[in-house]
Amino acid sequence: MNAPRRRHIALVAHDHKKADLIEWARINKDTLAQHDLVATGTTGKMLTEQVGLNVRCLRSGPLGGDQQLGALICEDQVDMLVFFWDPLEPQPHDPDVRALLRIAVVYDTPTACNRATADYLISSPLFAA
Ligand code: PGA
Repeated sequence: MNAPRRRHIALVAHDHKKADLIEWARINKDTLAQHDLVATGTTGKMLTEQVGLNVRCLRSGPLGGDQQLGALICEDQVDMLVFFWDPLEPQPHDPDVRALLRIAVVYDTPTACNRATADYLISSPLFAA
């Protein structure tokens, strides 16, 4: 059987959602480890230190990390976005958050904003194809 295609997966979680993302990443560690991972600064650091994944860390979200991810999407360097944004807390970088979500839709990037959707995406036959 052929090895699964190597995907570029971007990961971001707002502060109150980081525990959720870390838990999801632990459960899916073996799968995630087979792909190229990129994340905003703090999220990436936590995935590296707490889960043991190899992650390219960008700037922290409020310092431009969301915009860097948006630029990667424009350059076709993101195959899937896992973005656990917080619907219950205002974010100082809300314009960047909106811009990232907007550009993900513009480029038809599969995007998971919660664990249920992240589970669907990572187990999709389209993901493994
Ligand atoms: P962080 O950024 O991973 O650096 O916390 C996430 C965000 O707030 O967009």
